[in-house]
Amino acid sequence: MASVAAHSRQYRLSLSPHADAAGLAGRVALVTGGSRGIGRAIAIDLARAGAEIVFTYRSDNDGAALTIRAVEARGRCAIGLRADGTDRAAAGRAVMETIARFGRLDILVNNAGINRDAVVWKMDDRAWDEVIDADLGAAFRFTRAAVPAMREHGSGRIVNIASINGLRGKFGQSNYAAAKGGLIAFTKSVAREVAAFGITVNAVAPGLIETEMVATMPDSARQQSIAETVVGRLGAPDDVAAAVTFLASDGARHITGAVLQVDGGQRL
Ligand code: NDP
Repeated sequence: MASVAAHSRQYRLSLSPHADAAGLAGRVALVTGGSRGIGRAIAIDLARAGAEIVFTYRSDNDGAALTIRAVEARGRCAIGLRADGTDRAAAGRAVMETIARFGRLDILVNNAGINRDAVVWKMDDRAWDEVIDADLGAAFRFTRAAVPAMREHGSGRIVNIASINGLRGKFGQSNYAAAKGGLIAFTKSVAREVAAFGITVNAVAPGLIETEMVATMPDSARQQSIAETVVGRLGAPDDVAAAVTFLASDGARHITGAVLQVDGGQRL
């Protein structure tokens, strides 16, 4: 797999003296999968709260440029790193780039994820391996790379984007549900390991959210998901982003190892 350095397309913007009241001014966040969907919303919301942003993406240069412009519009600096999280070297290089540009890393959001749906008796090894590696393995590698930098500062926030399907299981998604369920167990384990260093680790478990990931879903499945909620609608990327920004804030200092459902009551 190609290295970040060799294949990264980076966009640099100037730092603004503007500071935001939401409390993340001076903090630096690394968000995986920030070129669209929930990851873009998270990058924008963390920037609105005052954080400088580094994000990764796999291939969507135009989407990455849009994210950068949106962060810039909030007066913050954004760097987009074209880096496939399944590349074993990507996480270490992304953290190194972050430290090289900003001198610190305060917030890691493991958001990048894919799905390759099939019932288990029709699922091939590739569909299993790709989802486990992109949705769980990459989060492990980014966390492993980020913790030493956070330890140095005696503080840090790690937020993992799981799914309610990692809690309840889902027909046709045994690979995805296993990865997200694993991510939740990983969250709780790492929360125990790093608490002494002032680092919190939490998971956000969204229900169905309107993004490209679900754009190809049959309408009947969408309607079924809406019917499962108690609010009568699907969530938006901003709904997930707001939860992440809260968990990244000082106000969430006593929350660790938690799973925050953002699902309109879909799993009630
Ligand atoms: P999208 O498919 O809309 O966006 C995925 C993002 O992740 C893109 O930026 C994509 O980059 C990036 N990405 C995917 N694979 C890799 C990889 N191997 N390396 C680096 N970047 C990668 O997804 P969503 O915004 O819908 O989902 C975001 C997260 O939220 C995922 O973890 C998903 O499982 C989770 N989630 C989503 C729900 C939903 O209903 N949408 C519900 C519950 C959880 P590029 O654009 O370059 O391909």
